[in-house]
Amino acid sequence: MILPATCYLIALGSNQRHNIFGRPEHIISAARAALEQQGLHILKQSKTVSSRPIGPSHRRYANSAAIIETALSPVPLLNLLKRIESRFGTRKGQAWSRRVLDLDIILWSEGAFSASYPPLTIPHPMMRERPFVLQPAAEIAAKWRDPISGLTIAQIAARHSRP
Ligand code: AMP
Repeated sequence: MILPATCYLIALGSNQRHNIFGRPEHIISAARAALEQQGLHILKQSKTVSSRPIGPSHRRYANSAAIIETALSPVPLLNLLKRIESRFGTRKGQAWSRRVLDLDIILWSEGAFSASYPPLTIPHPMMRERPFVLQPAAEIAAKWRDPISGLTIAQIAARHSRP
């Protein structure tokens, strides 16, 4: 059965050098190419921003967001994103400290979704607390509403940019 394509907002992050692609910013560009190569059509992409590390890591992060179009439902999409992540290298050490590539599903055009195996929650449970997700997301999806809070991404991002 062929399903109509739906849209997802994806967050891309990296804080490690890659032996071929180099700096985190270049890993994000290579990741976008990998998404397209796997048939995930990118409708919009944000700039790549550099942000301070979170947790014990000293490495800066490069973060970006993309709106992709695909007929995949959430779990097959997550599995594909995990395969793409693993092609960029496995993470060693603590989860927060070294990330070659992190791909998260932030929002889905069909609304909220949750599965227990693999664990998957859409909207992403941490999206409202992460400026490094909200800032790039607001650039390309300002009017997209979080189905849980009813607020737009622009409204949620604005709360974080207040002093
Ligand atoms: P992390 O390594 O922090 O990116 O966490 C990845 C794990 O979080 C994956 O194994 C997923 O099963 C789970 N997860 C839950 N919700 C999401 C989501 N919206 N996007 C990506 N991963 C998710």
